[in-house]
Amino acid sequence: MAKILLLIAVTVLVVWLFRSMGRKSDAIPPPKAKGVEDMVRCQRCGVHLPRSEAIMSGGRFYCSEQHRLQDKSGR
Ligand SMILES: [Zn+2]
Repeated sequence: MAKILLLIAVTVLVVWLFRSMGRKSDAIPPPKAKGVEDMVRCQRCGVHLPRSEAIMSGGRFYCSEQHRLQDKSGR
């Protein structure tokens, strides 16, 4: 009788462990690799701004469309 009780206890424990493991893997949020955004420098006026807000042209960054055009006309 003791063996049967032990078997049931182990089975319940294993099932519980698998369930808790499944919950854990479900609960893990996707890794958000959102670090500090790169800062770039305007080639025209030298102001620093996030890369997502900068205008890129020919490997150079500008703070605005106006400065991009001014830099091109200046060369
Ligand atoms: Zn600028």
